[in-house]
Amino acid sequence: MEYEVSVGMECHAELLTNSKMFCGCENAFGGDANTRTCPVCLGLPGSLPVFNKAAVEHVIRTALALNCEISMHTIFHRKNYFYPDLPKGYQISQYGQTPIGINGYLEIETPEGAIKKIHITRVHLEEDTGKSIHIDGLGYSVMDYNRSGVPLMEIVTEFPPDVQSGEEAAQYAENLRSVLLYLGVSDGRMEQGSLRVEPNPSVRPEGSEKYGVKTELKNLNSFRAVRLGVEYEAARHVEVLESGGVIVQGTYGWNDEKGETFLQRPKEFEQEYRYFPEPDLIPIDFDEDYIERLRVTIPELPLAKKRRLMEQYGLPSSDAALLAQDQASAAYFEKAAKSAGDPRAVANWMSGDLTRLANAANTPVYATPITAENLRELVTLIEKGTITGKIAKSLIEDMFTTGKTASALVAEKGLKVTGADEALSIVQKVIAANPDVVAKIKAGNEKSAGFLVGQIMKEAKGQARPDDVNRLLKEELDKL
Ligand SMILES: [Zn+2]
Repeated sequence: MEYEVSVGMECHAELLTNSKMFCGCENAFGGDANTRTCPVCLGLPGSLPVFNKAAVEHVIRTALALNCEISMHTIFHRKNYFYPDLPKGYQISQYGQTPIGINGYLEIETPEGAIKKIHITRVHLEEDTGKSIHIDGLGYSVMDYNRSGVPLMEIVTEFPPDVQSGEEAAQYAENLRSVLLYLGVSDGRMEQGSLRVEPNPSVRPEGSEKYGVKTELKNLNSFRAVRLGVEYEAARHVEVLESGGVIVQGTYGWNDEKGETFLQRPKEFEQEYRYFPEPDLIPIDFDEDYIERLRVTIPELPLAKKRRLMEQYGLPSSDAALLAQDQASAAYFEKAAKSAGDPRAVANWMSGDLTRLANAANTPVYATPITAENLRELVTLIEKGTITGKIAKSLIEDMFTTGKTASALVAEKGLKVTGADEALSIVQKVIAANPDVVAKIKAGNEKSAGFLVGQIMKEAKGQARPDDVNRLLKEELDKL
């Protein structure tokens, strides 16, 4: 029997704001435990929440970028449950019909290059919880409330799910992260938990109307883990069903080393959260002007940028995707490629030598001492034939360490390409100096020509164009 895979996607993103969602405490990662807390985020009696406007705007802009309708009237709810990381005994969240964003979609690109819409049912605003910390040998857990009350955005895909494989789940997560980075609403650090991707895979026999039992995957801290986790879970579901078993609904973790999922917590009952409207916060009403003012701040988004780079500069899909991952890299490329003859050469230098140098210095390509203008000049010098690619390769190292332009270094070092006339006299000189090698070539040993090319390049100090050398050598040998 063939099975179809369906994956609901729930993503949480901590929002980039100066202060927390409902109090003035600093919103930052890490730090000494419980140093960024106050009566509001500790849930002390009598304390009252106050909205963080920046967080509301981040969610509206994300909802707009995800093609959502905006609820012009939005309210907050209490989600009641008891857990030590939730000192108030409830989480302020948005429930039901009035989350800030509804009915949107995010486009992803399938491996075949087609566009697929992943429908999104809601984008809402809530607050993060504190963290329980388990220390081996302590015998009890300790709490850190620095994260308590940090603004959190939840993005949930529509049911029935559009995502149908681990690959698509990873694509969705990757593209969503890029959108959040473009908007500047989240730092998207999966390894620090500021972006949490939770796929809910299920399988059903092909053609079946009824969806299978889903399991929830948590603690996936890379896109690779998202893809492998979903693939593993889907295969496990099929195996269980084929052997006549049932899928245990629950939360599953991912063991990256073993490459397998493990049951964290079975779902024993449907939790009753007793949602009700938050009495300490007034409803928010947006007006059209306000939403439109935010709409114009939405930049060109990653997938649109990628496709434009391919079209406008003739880049292959992989190069364009790499550049479109962040706005700064794409802007650097466009600045460098603007008047260069071949934009693909600029992309190649960026993904090759420049990335190698940047990685070694642990800095992004666009922040290295080689400015976009300097890279453009280097590429132009090669295109004009002023320097060879080989010289450029050594120049880029010097440009990186000194911050100087290619032309300044060319002048400083007295570098220039050996002209065809000069190359011809070197070719003739080398032929004259190696009669035995020439004799071998003439006797049919073509490989010996490589030795002569090496001698010529050495004589020209690597500054002769390889095309010239090969052509001239052949012409001179043919004359003999
Ligand atoms: Zn606080």
